[in-house]
Amino acid sequence: MVELRFDGQVAVITGAGGGLGKEYALLFASRGAAVVVNDLGGSFKGEGSDKRAADLVVDEIIKAGGKAVANYDSVEDGEKIIKTAIDHFGRVDILVNNAGILRDRSFLKTEELDWDLVQKVHVKGAYKTTRAAWEYMRKQNYGRIIMTSSGSGIYGNFGQANYSAAKLALVGLSNTLAQEGKSKNIHCNTIVPIAGSRMTQGILPPDLMDNARPDLVAPVVAWLCHESCPENGAIIEAAAGWVGRYRWERTRGVTLRKRTDEGLSPEKVRDSWDEISDFRGSLHPESNQEAAGLIGEIVQNLIENT
Ligand code: NAD
Repeated sequence: MVELRFDGQVAVITGAGGGLGKEYALLFASRGAAVVVNDLGGSFKGEGSDKRAADLVVDEIIKAGGKAVANYDSVEDGEKIIKTAIDHFGRVDILVNNAGILRDRSFLKTEELDWDLVQKVHVKGAYKTTRAAWEYMRKQNYGRIIMTSSGSGIYGNFGQANYSAAKLALVGLSNTLAQEGKSKNIHCNTIVPIAGSRMTQGILPPDLMDNARPDLVAPVVAWLCHESCPENGAIIEAAAGWVGRYRWERTRGVTLRKRTDEGLSPEKVRDSWDEISDFRGSLHPESNQEAAGLIGEIVQNLIENT
């Protein structure tokens, strides 16, 4: 079996002072990458800062014979994190946008600060760090980027309106970057992890907390970031050694008018609701063009029938 290696490559992992990010950093370093271990070192709610979180991971990597440097900036200043990669290692090949915080409250009790901080760290942080890396990746015609989403984003979760909105925003960002980066050999994929970490302490049931270890997600991220991995624009779920993927699904739908001069009423929509919602023979458009293409065909048919 040929080992997947990252020799000569530089990986930037945000929020790598603990949890999932730490395992990503350790794995990339053990496979030959020089790693920027970014972590602000605050609480899981985004309060305070502490250099020790990143330093301890860097020490561990160096003791094991790997290459790593710490960066303590917030992802909101993502350009500084990428500058650390360039200053120390001269390039950036891999970026794992992993840093995150939680400020869980029911929607009614969510204050604007809870909303803003969560959007800033997850969405703006990923934007700023990726934007800075993007220029280098485009110039070198190579890059591998990961966005970190969550089941809360995909399915929603009580008490996580701010976090759900941010996490699904990252899927949208990843989907578009996958398309914009493709011609420059920049791939962008989304990971949807479940792992026992300080963030999920007291939330995950004990069996899941113990068995869904962060080191069981890291190999999935490593594969998605390898130069031999053709995947681009995928949404991959990983937990406890199980790996699967998501895709959008839409019903075949119903055209509720026969001619262009025919209108549409709420009653017509109501009366066809079962058929509109019937997922039998469902479709899986892979691009906006493919999805909109169907509407174009329907409009053409209406024009011909009129
Ligand atoms: P974690 O709290 O252990 O790790 C997050 C790290 O990000 C921390 O070390 C923290 O200091 C760092 N961080 C926070 N704000 C930062 C900032 N502004 N700049 C730089 N670093 C910052 O949690 P985790 O479970 O390892 O989560 C990692 C990622 O995975 C997060 O994006 C989280 O939302 C996502 N996620 C985790 C789970 C899970 O089950 N653990 C599920 C879905 C999504």
